[in-house]
Amino acid sequence: MTTELLVALIAVAVVVLGGGAALLVRRGRSELPPPRDLDAITEEVIDHPEHPEPHLPSEDEEPPFEEVPADEKASASPTTTVERPEPAQGRLVRLRARLARSNSSLGRGLLSVLGRADLDDAAWEELEDTLLAADVGVGPTTELVDRLRTRVRVEGITDPEGARTALREELITLVDPSLDRAVATTGADGKPGVVLVVGVNGTGKTTTVGRLARVLVAEDRTVVLGAADTFRAAAADQLSTWGQRVGVEVVRGPEGGDPASVGFDTVKRGIESGADVVVIDTAGRLHTKSGLMDELGKVKRVAEKQAPVTEVLLVIDATTGQNGLRQAQVFGEVVDVTGVVLTKLDGTAKGGIVVAVQRELGVPVKFVGLGEGADDLAPFDAAEFVDALLG
Ligand code: GDP
Repeated sequence: MTTELLVALIAVAVVVLGGGAALLVRRGRSELPPPRDLDAITEEVIDHPEHPEPHLPSEDEEPPFEEVPADEKASASPTTTVERPEPAQGRLVRLRARLARSNSSLGRGLLSVLGRADLDDAAWEELEDTLLAADVGVGPTTELVDRLRTRVRVEGITDPEGARTALREELITLVDPSLDRAVATTGADGKPGVVLVVGVNGTGKTTTVGRLARVLVAEDRTVVLGAADTFRAAAADQLSTWGQRVGVEVVRGPEGGDPASVGFDTVKRGIESGADVVVIDTAGRLHTKSGLMDELGKVKRVAEKQAPVTEVLLVIDATTGQNGLRQAQVFGEVVDVTGVVLTKLDGTAKGGIVVAVQRELGVPVKFVGLGEGADDLAPFDAAEFVDALLG
């Protein structure tokens, strides 16, 4: 082999390897998680192109590839997929029509009985039955009927409007406007607030974590999500999609990995990135109570090695009624629940479950789910809820 040939071969090898290395760098970049400040990064890429202008076909030249339809281009571009979620205030009022099914059986049922000229024993019994059928629970139902009966007698209420006012006031008292329904998302010592979301699988836990992230982003809070439900592969993917939509980072672990280590890593990442709030999704397999206790307890303990958990939200599916309530009680015994998210309230006639949940678990309902949309999670308010029920 001549020296010239050797030099030529080395030159070819350098060019080929160099090109390969450049490809690897580019591939590496495209595998990074979606950046936070996408506009700035897009500008940087436009300002400093890595490669010279590609050859663009002239008007009469056939394009070398198929045109991507405009709508596909939009969904492929990360800059266009970051959404600005709507603020959460006033959602219960906006979504009040979603309570229509509860409204017709509970609200209207009560009003139709109270509107009668003669409120005899049979009428009061009917009122009681309506409340029980709407899952209000025995204790609160007796309480409400007794108070209403007394008011009607003592105040001499005879007109439907007077009865409606008394019913509204008593229902609000029952739902309890004095409860603190704010979700504790503020951390101490410069650390993020840590929200743990627990509940039986299928109740809408992961959806709630995603929606909560949107509520926080709408309040200009910075968020990190943790996919600690490592047993359900789809849960982490689902959460990543929620995160991407609003430009929020999602920490996930290997499938079937230790949920507690994901919880730990999420809070660590939250601290490192200076996030305001960390929200952790957990697994809700109700196999044995002791298994659940070990797992959830460990997630909480290990996360708290980084920063205290400020809120534990229990997600309950409103359509599961008393059964759901019993399952929820198990969670209440395992972790110190500080608030309830009642999902699927749009799909049930049993809106009275709000009262029963609070009574049975001794914690306030803080949010209600009223649909399958991304922003269908409404902060709960006693008066607004009762007004929505009474139509
Ligand atoms: P997880 O297993 O507890 O994490 O449950 P998911 O978050 O995967 O939710 C289960 C299903 O419930 C999904 O199809 C959600 O869209 C649906 N869902 C969640 N919240 C609501 C709600 O408030 N209303 C309705 N109608 N569906 C909901």
